[in-house]
Amino acid sequence: MSIADKLQQTHARIEAACRAAGRAPGSVQLLAVSKTFPAAAVREAFNAGQTSFGENYVQEALQKITDLAEHRAQLQWHLIGPLQSNKTRPVAEAFDWVHSVDRLKIAERLAEQRPPRLAPLQLCLQVNTSGEASKSGVAPEELPALAHAVAALPQDRVRLRGLMAIAEPVAAEAGVAAQRAPHRRLFEMFEALRAQGLVLDTVSSGMSADLEAAVLEGATMVRVGSAIFGARVRSIT
Ligand SMILES: *Cc1c(COP(=O)(O)O)cnc(C)c1O
Repeated sequence: MSIADKLQQTHARIEAACRAAGRAPGSVQLLAVSKTFPAAAVREAFNAGQTSFGENYVQEALQKITDLAEHRAQLQWHLIGPLQSNKTRPVAEAFDWVHSVDRLKIAERLAEQRPPRLAPLQLCLQVNTSGEASKSGVAPEELPALAHAVAALPQDRVRLRGLMAIAEPVAAEAGVAAQRAPHRRLFEMFEALRAQGLVLDTVSSGMSADLEAAVLEGATMVRVGSAIFGARVRSIT
């Protein structure tokens, strides 16, 4: 199957999940996760109508952003992998979104380093919903303070849009019902922050294996890699 076919198939999965959830079909955005795949694969997806791409590694992403420079105005590049504070400058200068903000220092540096001629960098806070020590993300009990602090940064440089999480893998045989719990926890944190007055509109949750569960629990953006581009050869965090 071509990338165009797999994109179409992924859109069909999202639409079916929206119908099952009683949600509008356009209420979930598809982020195509192109990490480890070459610029040619991104170009193929772009030619099939996909404009938002997620990347994990800054250097790899910068090369693809350069390779696809002629389409820059139509493309949206999202950093979804961990971000170290010494790598914030190229990210502030080249990306449209960062999903993996998990401490104030990173958001402050992005705000300082975002060139004023560009639209504000769109941010999500990554939450560690599973409590696993190995995973990145802010602990749920520290999330409200971080969210309020990031929302108070200069709005013309960074804009807090919502939350992101990587759900702990649940065996496919366990079914969609078992997959839903971590996505529900993330959505509840999102609603709690909104109840505190923060203006947020993005829940970035769900991947190839569990996008239906995420959509049923309110995700507004799903991050899909292998279901679009195929299995990755290089192993990934
Ligand atoms: C790789 C990755 C994805 C996509 O995973 P697939 O299982 O290939 O769909 C989504 N989110 C993050 C943060 C990733 O690192």
